[in-house]
Amino acid sequence: MSRESIVTLDKRRIWHPYTAMDDYRARVDPIVVDRASGPYLYDLDGRSYIDANSSWWVSSLGHNHPRLVEVLKRQAERNCHSALAGMTHEVAALLGEALCSVAPAGLEHVFFSDDGSTAVEVALKASLQYWAQNGRPSRKRFVSLEEAFHGETLGATAIGGVELFRRPFAGAIPEHVRVPSPTRAGGLEPAVEILSAVLRQQGETLAAMVLEPVVQGAAGMQIYDPAYLRVARELCDQHEVLLIADEVFTGYGRTGPMWACEHAGVAPDLLCTAKGFTGGILPMAATLVSERIFEGFLGSADRAFHYGHSFCGNPLGAAVALEVLRIYREERIIEAAGPRAARIAAAFEALAELPSVARSRSLGMIGAVDLCGDSGYLARAGWRVYEEARSRGAYLRPMGNVVYVAPPLNIPEDTLGRLLEIVRESIESITAHSG
Ligand SMILES: *Cc1c(COP(=O)(O)O)cnc(C)c1O
Repeated sequence: MSRESIVTLDKRRIWHPYTAMDDYRARVDPIVVDRASGPYLYDLDGRSYIDANSSWWVSSLGHNHPRLVEVLKRQAERNCHSALAGMTHEVAALLGEALCSVAPAGLEHVFFSDDGSTAVEVALKASLQYWAQNGRPSRKRFVSLEEAFHGETLGATAIGGVELFRRPFAGAIPEHVRVPSPTRAGGLEPAVEILSAVLRQQGETLAAMVLEPVVQGAAGMQIYDPAYLRVARELCDQHEVLLIADEVFTGYGRTGPMWACEHAGVAPDLLCTAKGFTGGILPMAATLVSERIFEGFLGSADRAFHYGHSFCGNPLGAAVALEVLRIYREERIIEAAGPRAARIAAAFEALAELPSVARSRSLGMIGAVDLCGDSGYLARAGWRVYEEARSRGAYLRPMGNVVYVAPPLNIPEDTLGRLLEIVRESIESITAHSG
């Protein structure tokens, strides 16, 4: 099919995520991806683009990792899908074991679902039901951070803190408790004080605290002091509030260690993983829980967790997720990312000097700048940088005026070098044009 026919059909039928469709149809000439390999996307017109955000943060091992493709083919020939309802299969069992062995201490059981949103939904429902049937039915609300993002289901939207995403649903989703995010400079102490007061005053009504450890990704790669996480853990313990770590983005070495919780040396009661969990190959997720939570569902059939998605434990996803963990171990993915993270840190620190850059930050395999001017998701400056980067061979989708990279952890050094050059050149060129 020609590139043009694909785009015509697309514009006739497809409703794109997070996209103003009138603007898209009128003005956007989309990259039409033909194939993908390692850090590259290849357009139908033969151009290649470095995938600066690992296709929305999922392809942590690059596109079409040959070992993952091979395992997927083998598993497809054997069993594409069988349910986990009263049955099981080898790769799910092995994956459960492998996942718990790399998880923060105390997380002993795994509930599989489909994506980051459902991994969070599982954690929310498990927390509520846990308290409902273990003597504390008054614990019905959640506390989460301002600007938090936890996914797209109504439950996840209710605990989210990005106003633009919540506003259409005001009145239709329950009001939970939101506390200030510690991401702003000087924000740690006031954030801790308010959290402490909220837990003191409302702790009895709270089922769990939910947070993205150390980096609020969708807030624009906002990074905070891990000390906040340590205090949150202590306060949650004090007030018997469960702690849910949403590691959907931060897990699998994105911020340096395997889990961002490790920056603070804390273990949550429940942990959500998705995205890098399958190396970005298939939609599948997991929610890990402590022994205590798991045991809170034992006793009689009506105490069971009456929850499950059709594709729970999907063998294709499980086989790939298992191979991802093997690759992490055998190819020492996390250790090997260290020098790449250092290059990102150096390059983004240098960007802070550009006149169009208001602020710069980095952590692990994430680097981000705020451009000067309007902020928020609807700001346009990031899109001008996007166009510049595209013409230079990189897919650099911004979040409003936040321009960031979150490339595959195993991106070859020379490709990373080129990407960082493109980021700099693209930001410089919009300054030149607007100046
Ligand atoms: C992306 C994301 C989600 C939602 O994951 P989906 O797979 O898009 O449903 C949840 N939490 C965090 C922190 C995320 O970054």
